[in-house]
Amino acid sequence: TGALTVTLAACGGEGAGSGSGAGDDSNEEGGLVGVAMPTETSERWIADGAAVEDGLKEAGYDVDLQFAGDDIPTQQQQIDAMINAGAEALIVAAIDGTTLTGQLEAAAAQDIPVISYDRLIRDSEDVDFYVSFDNFQVGVAQANALLNGLGLVDENGEPVEDAPKGPFNVELFAGSLDDNNAHFFWDGAMSVLEPLIEDGTLVVPSEQTEIDQAATQRWLQENAQSRMEDLLTAHYDGNEKVDGVLSPYDGLSRGIIEALRSAGYEDDAMPVITGQDAEIASVKLIADGVQNSTIFKDTRLLADQAVVTAEALLAGEEPEANNTEDYDNGVKVVPSYLLPVTTIYADNIESELVDSGYWTAEEVESGV
Ligand code: BGC
Repeated sequence: TGALTVTLAACGGEGAGSGSGAGDDSNEEGGLVGVAMPTETSERWIADGAAVEDGLKEAGYDVDLQFAGDDIPTQQQQIDAMINAGAEALIVAAIDGTTLTGQLEAAAAQDIPVISYDRLIRDSEDVDFYVSFDNFQVGVAQANALLNGLGLVDENGEPVEDAPKGPFNVELFAGSLDDNNAHFFWDGAMSVLEPLIEDGTLVVPSEQTEIDQAATQRWLQENAQSRMEDLLTAHYDGNEKVDGVLSPYDGLSRGIIEALRSAGYEDDAMPVITGQDAEIASVKLIADGVQNSTIFKDTRLLADQAVVTAEALLAGEEPEANNTEDYDNGVKVVPSYLLPVTTIYADNIESELVDSGYWTAEEVESGV
């Protein structure tokens, strides 16, 4: 949606950026930076976009921030337009990590550095850097939260003495297969859950234990809701109950909760349901004891990291990386900076989310 705003670089010349904007809000030194975000349907991307834009402006750059409504051709056109408008760097959170090769070739031909934001862009040589969270660890944390909710491990993921034996009925959800992160989340979670599925502590009545079976196209809440409805109809008769659901994202968790409610589960007797992103509606569900947990990724820190990285690249310097092994995009290993994540349960909403200013107490109370 939103009209395309084309901001022309004030002086567009060499040597843009690199902190030269300090104490100068005229944006005359920095060039234009294009910021491509996937969608506004999930609140994290709106926050990401705003924080990256603010950080870049503070550092003296002009910013062209676009959201693509989860439509791949729209995102391609937006990036083409950024390049045509003279963008000197691109920060891109891809919808589908494999569909931007043409845009990136055009950027490379003009020496425009590209930062892959949160989601790795695949199959292209022309990605300079990746800023994200520790995505494998997100999955590990989600699986541990599920086990914690079932009483099997403590909050550090350590086995609990005299834990209940189970077996527990669980169902597994994954994200969108075209998002590289979905595979990391799944692999991280399954590294924890698989041994327990094998030893019979966890049972998956649907037997859908492959990522392709568990995937949720485009991360859409309604897709998760209808899959959960189907699972309940097909695999849970009157007596079988779901004890836990691995969900990789709060939006999906809310769809799963809707399906369970429709099937007669009461809010105070929900299975253990995980999540991600600390979306405000889900934080309230956690505070109310309906959803078990979420994984908090502080998008303010990611935005800062993207800005620092852009400044370094624009100054012709090598950005600081803390991982140069794990993110192979199919063509090369992309140097990365990964941020840590925090598991949120009802009892640390205040200390982690409210005290840090991510959400206010009123927002947690109202859920909006
Ligand atoms: C992000 C998650 C988000 C998901 C759906 C993933 O790429 O890393 O934070 O929940 O996309 O938007």
